Amino acid sequence: MKSLLLHTAAFALSVQFASAQVKPKNDIDQKVEALISKMTLEEKVGQMTNLVVDVISKTDASGKIIEPHEIDQQNLEERILKYHIGSFQNVAGHAYDRAHWFRIISAIQSVAMRDRLKIPALYGIDAIHGVTYTLGSTLFPQEIAMAATFNPDLIRKAGAISAYETRASYIPWNFSPVLDVAKNQAWPRIYETFGEDPYLVTTMGAAIINGYQGNNVGDKYHVTSTMKHFLGYGDPLSGKDRTPAWIPDRYMREHFLPPFVEAIRAGSRTLMVNSSEINGVPVHSSKYLLTDVLRKELKFDGIVISDWMDVSYLHTRHHVATTEKDAVALAVNAGIDMCIVPYDYSFYNYLIQLVHEGRVPISRINESVRRILHVKYELGLFDRPVGNPEDYPEFGSDKFKAASRQTAAEAITLLKNNNGILPLNKNMRVLVTGPAANTMRSLDGGWSYTWQGEQDDKYAAENNTILEAIQQKIGKQNVIYEPGAAFDSLQNASAAVAAANQADAIVLCLGESSYTESVGNIDDLDLPAAQTELALQLAKTGKPVILVLAEGRPRIVTLANNAAAATLMAYLPGNEGGDAVADILFGDVNPSGKLPFTYPRFPNALINYYRKNIENGGGSQGYNPLYEFGFGLSYTTFQYRNLRADKPDLKDNETLTIHVDVTNTGEQDGKEDNC
Ligand code: BGC
Repeated sequence: MKSLLLHTAAFALSVQFASAQVKPKNDIDQKVEALISKMTLEEKVGQMTNLVVDVISKTDASGKIIEPHEIDQQNLEERILKYHIGSFQNVAGHAYDRAHWFRIISAIQSVAMRDRLKIPALYGIDAIHGVTYTLGSTLFPQEIAMAATFNPDLIRKAGAISAYETRASYIPWNFSPVLDVAKNQAWPRIYETFGEDPYLVTTMGAAIINGYQGNNVGDKYHVTSTMKHFLGYGDPLSGKDRTPAWIPDRYMREHFLPPFVEAIRAGSRTLMVNSSEINGVPVHSSKYLLTDVLRKELKFDGIVISDWMDVSYLHTRHHVATTEKDAVALAVNAGIDMCIVPYDYSFYNYLIQLVHEGRVPISRINESVRRILHVKYELGLFDRPVGNPEDYPEFGSDKFKAASRQTAAEAITLLKNNNGILPLNKNMRVLVTGPAANTMRSLDGGWSYTWQGEQDDKYAAENNTILEAIQQKIGKQNVIYEPGAAFDSLQNASAAVAAANQADAIVLCLGESSYTESVGNIDDLDLPAAQTELALQLAKTGKPVILVLAEGRPRIVTLANNAAAATLMAYLPGNEGGDAVADILFGDVNPSGKLPFTYPRFPNALINYYRKNIENGGGSQGYNPLYEFGFGLSYTTFQYRNLRADKPDLKDNETLTIHVDVTNTGEQDGKEDNC
């Protein structure tokens, strides 16, 4: 019997979520009050305005950012010295090196220090799987893969490394984590989530927030997190991004609220709002959710930031406000503290007018500004607006990359392994094929170097694709490569079939290329037909097909999976993911990942793991997924015995602890995580 690495044999189910974030009156409060008392209305509204870096970047006559990217000093000065804009975000186009980030942030802060009250700017970025827009950074697996590790400690470490590298890029504010519970399998933002299970999302969310923020968000290695997207964003009825959800209050509180409750308890200081609507009410206009639930019930006292253009969309998209100015009144009165405008002064101008007209009370403005200044003080920005380049010797280090590789290795999930075909023998001759085999886009996905990740292959050229990792592992002479198909069409499939006849095994890498947000909307959850066709043609050769799935959501692969001897789910495993796949295929790592979502078998049977008995139906008509939530094989075997709860009855506010004994009954070391 081999050893078992067991992270936590017991898991606790917390049934009470009504924690309050009560902070004692402290030094910061006094500084904030002193500052607010000196501020004009314009200075206050400037603090509530967030602009994208593009508007302070040099552009050509057509408005296109000039390459190489540079800050436009005149524009920057207008934004800060005339309008007192207090917050900026994002990247203009593509990732920069650390030196360039230093120039950008230094330029912004030095102008901020020339403004009357010398309030430092707050810069935010989507460092959602590592600091995505800094060259040479450590890119981790995307959240969906992090969830598959079921190992919160590992995810806390990933968060800590990401925070270190974000501060190494002089940025103190991370628009992460996504705490949306992903219920609809077609939704293009599934890969940004911790999956479909509220408990897993809650646990992993709190873990990564602890990593981002450490014990002190103000030290030079930590950043503030942003819980997003409040609330119910992960269950769009249509499966398309930013489309309506219909969620009864009770279901909302049981499934979607807990991750936010726990994140507030973990100390997250900012929160971003769902761009869409719930039960017919756009969340940016919902006083019920943004004030009654978030502030009064959950006692959140940090910053609520809108999502991209979503205040003006209350008028132009949702049509719940007759004018853009009405939209500003609606959103701010509902509880928005800061608006990602992000290109112009509309929010700023309208809000000033609304205060003068008495449509937004100054008390509402003061409340928001107080929260914003508080976070700026907590982040240490008044003392250290930029950061010191020398302080981050470990940026992009081998140590950090090893942590990313370990995360990928613990995420990748073995779904099928007929007759123990895996691990493969390193002496085998292997055909590597499929559209995901030789591209970093299928490993990093979107939010990598650029918003859509379309330049992953250029910027992550030093990292190994699955093909390159296999070539390194078993020697180039043992690897034949024929792509066989692009993502949507066959491409010389006959060459791949011919090559299969020369090989002992076929590693077929299928899945998705990179996409982000609504660009990733699909009308069909099925894997594109060309990829399935390639799988079927290869299977006909009689050579064992090892299906490797590199994808951000569970595309339906039933036919390909049936034709395969083994199936490995890689998700979007990040920059070291190619190596982690090769480690598992050839037995250097024993897989331990578990599915963080239900893998559907049929496109019209999208049933989640938490379901009513009557949804079970019978046979293929009811609950019959290809693989269940939590499923994942190992190269060893485990026995689970003696499941027991620590109390027979559960009262309100009590925690139930469940124990199970796990024994490794197989021939090799194995690992089980229960979070
Ligand atoms: C996304 C957010 C993101 C923001 C800033 C929006 O389109 O929905 O998740 O943080 O852009 O990049």
